[in-house]
Amino acid sequence: MPQPSQSIRELFGRFPGRICAIVGSGPSLRHVRAAMLGAGPVIVLNRAIRAVEALGLATPVAVFSMQKDGCGVRTPHADCPGAVTRRPHRAALLVSRQESCECLPDYRPRYLFDAVADLGADAWWEFSANCAIRLARLMGCAALRLLSFDAATAGDCTADDGTRNPAYRAQAQRMPPLLQPGDFWIEPQAEGRVRGFFHDLAPCEPAA
Ligand SMILES: [Zn+2]
Repeated sequence: MPQPSQSIRELFGRFPGRICAIVGSGPSLRHVRAAMLGAGPVIVLNRAIRAVEALGLATPVAVFSMQKDGCGVRTPHADCPGAVTRRPHRAALLVSRQESCECLPDYRPRYLFDAVADLGADAWWEFSANCAIRLARLMGCAALRLLSFDAATAGDCTADDGTRNPAYRAQAQRMPPLLQPGDFWIEPQAEGRVRGFFHDLAPCEPAA
């Protein structure tokens, strides 16, 4: 059986003072451009990794593919059938001990985490977005750049593939308690424009 993955704790303190981009799957994701991600580490939730890897980001940008939710298969499988979990091409894979530890066991780099023990979440089922926020803080990042969380910024629970996902509303409500002044939201728009919001969702001029 393939073993072991690296502990996510190896990433703690890795990016001191940087701004971490966290990318969701709202419909605005179709407008994302590489420049909108900034120069810091990027944590991409679930299937949004497809859009981000399609940007062809240049190294040395560090890209992480958060696949906490997994696909439900409980034996090791390299060909993950999940609707959510997608095999990244180059990004470092982040999998949950409780939910996705059997997904893509041979992929490297692959970091295994426990949402409670490693990230300080209240429960193992904590949303992927909040696990990403907690990880960014533990990596030493100074602020967060949250992209394409349209449920939070626009009340839009549509996913980038046009399906509606009611869980996005609950996720959007659960994120703000973890945010701090200096964090900000970006909603990509057509032709490289963006809408920006402070951590408390008050509109702001987007940071470059
Ligand atoms: Zn899987």
